[in-house]
Amino acid sequence: MKDNHRAHSQRVYNDALKTAMTDRVMLPDRVLTQDSCTPDASPALSALYDSYSWAAHSLKARAWLQAAFVFNFLLMSFDYLVSPSLLIPTLIIRGLVVSSILLGLYLLWGRQRASWVQGATLVMVSATIMIGSGALGALGGVSLFERYLTGALFTVATAILFFPIGFRWTVAGVIAAIILHAGMVIIGPVPDPWLALSTSLFYSGAIVAFASTRKATLRSQWKSFKSKIRELRDQEALASLNAELQVIANLDPLTGIQNRRSTQEDVDRIWSDTTYARRAIAFLMLDIDNFKQLNDTLGHAAGDECIKGVANKISLALRDGDIVSRYGGEEFLVVLTGTTASEASAVAERIRKSVESFRLNTSGDTPASQVTISIGLALWEGDETPEMLIKRADEAMYDAKRSGKNQTMVAPPPQGIDTPSGQIHGPTARDVA
Ligand code: GH3
Ligand code: MG
Ligand code: MG
Repeated sequence: MKDNHRAHSQRVYNDALKTAMTDRVMLPDRVLTQDSCTPDASPALSALYDSYSWAAHSLKARAWLQAAFVFNFLLMSFDYLVSPSLLIPTLIIRGLVVSSILLGLYLLWGRQRASWVQGATLVMVSATIMIGSGALGALGGVSLFERYLTGALFTVATAILFFPIGFRWTVAGVIAAIILHAGMVIIGPVPDPWLALSTSLFYSGAIVAFASTRKATLRSQWKSFKSKIRELRDQEALASLNAELQVIANLDPLTGIQNRRSTQEDVDRIWSDTTYARRAIAFLMLDIDNFKQLNDTLGHAAGDECIKGVANKISLALRDGDIVSRYGGEEFLVVLTGTTASEASAVAERIRKSVESFRLNTSGDTPASQVTISIGLALWEGDETPEMLIKRADEAMYDAKRSGKNQTMVAPPPQGIDTPSGQIHGPTARDVA
């Protein structure tokens, strides 16, 4: 039952928190840092505060109601012992009326209620205990009446300290107790009403002091609530900032594709994963042809546009999951996994042709320039490290340059492994013309 109650409290609080965190408007610094006691912020923040304080303190209120219920039963035998004539009245007043009200309130606190319902509980407790004890005291005679009223006031004071409700409702509970006490002293069987009223005043002072203790507790609850929310909000902001930074740190700012460092990390991950079928890995090293010349004739900005356009063409020619990165100035590395020699060659050719179709738009009368790339392809063999594989792809790429550029060269296997190598495709006479 208790666990059930706790789980329910937690769920209510979590739901309110989720709403509050999505509704970021309600979390401005101004509200979270101000030192006011009452949540005069947005309704969502107030609702969150209610569920936060309710989840933390409803167990307390229920514990008080439970103890009061048991104590009320024990007092029935006390009533009978001090005055056997009280047997029937106590069976009716304590046994039936007071215990039903306490039980009802206990059940009411099993679920989170509107704050006015929570607040009205204290007024109800105040009235029940004061009237119940006053009535029994009056029936018991002059000697019992005042003692019962004092005992009732003391009981209400403990409720004032215990009940996790808004301060306005605490004050309402205090006023109800004091008025009922004074009222019953005036109409009840007391030998000296003035002496009784001054005693009443004394106890009222004590009860007001209890209420101000309650106010201090409320303020510290509100403060710790706000700092908790601030902490959560800061954590959330930091987490999303970190995620953004992580993404930015892995990308090349000019082209938006992966940078060399993050590709190195990906490659290391592939090599350290023993379940990876490394036989199916191919590295493609790509370099833009005659780029220096393009830079010199069209300018550095056009050179940058060219790098962006080529990166875009390469990305579009790949499948999801293939890695493409800007490896150097105008050099790119493509990592293919789950591929075969012929598939890798086909991909290389697809990329080369796709770049061929790219046109660099230049201002003025200069016609749009065609851009080409040379590609070196190396397939993983034996115990090669990533560095060895890159070196072979790089050498094949230089072979492609030496053989006239705008073509793909397959790197020969590392040592004595017999696989076909050499130019797979290249520009036809018409292509270069
Ligand atoms: P090859 O066909 O043999 O590759 O000749 P190339 O002219 O492309 O020669 P190389 O690869 O040596 O030239 C690379 C040039 O790219 C040198 C450098 O000025 C230029 N470069 C490197 N990074 C950038 C960049 O980010 N933007 C621009 N605009 N140019 C760059
Ligand atoms: Mg180049
Ligand atoms: Mg280069």
